[in-house]
Amino acid sequence: MREIHVKLITEKVRDLCMEANTDLGEDVLQAFDRAMEKEESPLGVEILKELKENARIAKEESVPICQDTGFAVVFVELGQDVHLVGGNLNEAIQEGVRQGYRDGYLRKSICHPFKRVNTGDNTPAIIHTEIISGDHIKIMVAPKGGGSENMSRVTMLTPSDGIEGIKRFVVQRVKESGSNPCPPTIVGIGIGGTFEQAAFLAKKSLLRPLNSKNSDIELDQLESEILTEINQLGIGPQGLGGRTTSLAVHILMMPCHIASFPLAVNIQCHAQRHKETEI
Ligand code: SF4
Repeated sequence: MREIHVKLITEKVRDLCMEANTDLGEDVLQAFDRAMEKEESPLGVEILKELKENARIAKEESVPICQDTGFAVVFVELGQDVHLVGGNLNEAIQEGVRQGYRDGYLRKSICHPFKRVNTGDNTPAIIHTEIISGDHIKIMVAPKGGGSENMSRVTMLTPSDGIEGIKRFVVQRVKESGSNPCPPTIVGIGIGGTFEQAAFLAKKSLLRPLNSKNSDIELDQLESEILTEINQLGIGPQGLGGRTTSLAVHILMMPCHIASFPLAVNIQCHAQRHKETEI
């Protein structure tokens, strides 16, 4: 058994919140470059350049990539040979988010659903914990903006809808979303499981680096086909026309009930923020 003090988790989550909000991943910057080479719209190219410049300034000056610093979504892989001491895991993470958003001068965006009163410290964070083997903890922080989250959907297809049903629903969702999720987007898709598991898979799929292959050949092919259809819609960067509506489509899938065919689409804006660490 390896002992880890929860204070260390708080410190790591604090740092990850600030890092994720100011330092866009190299994979996203490279995806902008690739998109610029293919983009036919001059305005689209200009917007992609602006997004790169925005990311450069954010990193150099330690300011947020976007004014919407998001809902703090935290994925934890907790080794079963870890003994946490000094407090509660959930509380330690919430405190890390509290400190990160305070110390990083990040906008607090979380409020009561009816009264719309801000909680004041960007908590509660959404925490997904998975118990794995080993004696380490992996923590991933993925701030999620409201604009792109609002365009996401879960649906229960019928088994006979098949792969064509998936394509139809996803492409239609991106089409109806238009400029709202601040394209170019990354489209996360969760297939199978149950209603809530499909949504979780869609969200988790967004953690995969851009330009990486899906380990399932069939899903890899499906990702390419959906991406091609999406980029024929003409929405383009920031919805002002062009080929680059989405930078990538990511799919995670698991078995489902014989009577069901759950499908979730989690749309991620160009501010594709996530950072991780291992303790
Ligand atoms: S959708 Fe993304 S880029 Fe657009 S405002 Fe929200 S966080 Fe910012």
